[in-house]
Amino acid sequence: MEFTSQPEIFSHKFEWKDLTIQGLSRAGTGTCFAIPQLGVCMDLAQGLPFVYHYSHFFITHAHMDHAGGLPYIISQRSLNQMAPGSFYMGAEMRPAMERIIEEWEKLEGFKYPYKFIEVHTDTDYPISNTHFVRPFPTVHRVPSRGYTVFQKRKKLRPEFRGLSQKEIQVLATQGKSVQETLEVPVFSFTGDTKIEFLDVNEDVKKSEVLILECTYLDERKSVESAREWGLIHIKELVPRFTELECQSIWLTHLSRRYKFKEAISLVQTACKALPEELRNKIHLFP
Ligand SMILES: [Zn+2]
Repeated sequence: MEFTSQPEIFSHKFEWKDLTIQGLSRAGTGTCFAIPQLGVCMDLAQGLPFVYHYSHFFITHAHMDHAGGLPYIISQRSLNQMAPGSFYMGAEMRPAMERIIEEWEKLEGFKYPYKFIEVHTDTDYPISNTHFVRPFPTVHRVPSRGYTVFQKRKKLRPEFRGLSQKEIQVLATQGKSVQETLEVPVFSFTGDTKIEFLDVNEDVKKSEVLILECTYLDERKSVESAREWGLIHIKELVPRFTELECQSIWLTHLSRRYKFKEAISLVQTACKALPEELRNKIHLFP
């Protein structure tokens, strides 16, 4: 277990290959993650400055600590004369969010430019030529979904592997399609959910990086109570970690009752029976 942190107010970050994952998360306070290289943000917390300049904002659900920053980000972008960002959200929250912005426009006597896009699970939303986002269903107290970022990677078709570079070039000049495009799940973010989301999401389990809600870490909150709030207790997670093929797993959305140092020790204790190789992939996001 390790803790990677940069001395930045309001957010922490870690690197994964050519991506930076920057964010913050505490249950009931605020959750927001961003990948600067892709210009993408997932959940908005209170609308914090480190995400204003991104282009794509994906919202998991309508709880205030995840979505409350929406009007403020729209206002800051307008104030700084930035193009309206794209805000992706479930159909259940779009009309209410539009009304909130309309009411604020009336209060301020100013019309805000913005773009809301309804998302549906198993539909792909392109964010660049090489990456797209696919929502997946989660199980929370209100309608919710998580998001996986996929990278399109070109690879030589299996039937041509083993050929020399020259032979491949000849085939290509003959018009043969020598490459195939793989869709690699590089990053997944669950938002808030019960453990059942794992039963239906194979892509999430294969995601290189997984940001996984795990709010409760000990007996101070029972599994039943965690489930009642639509959240995950580490006791439910430990027996299911072996299903995850992810290379880097970050537990997040900790209850405010845990101090960070204490939380590290609770996670270590809960995971002590897991194989070392798996344990080394599990981190705690501050
Ligand atoms: Zn929630």
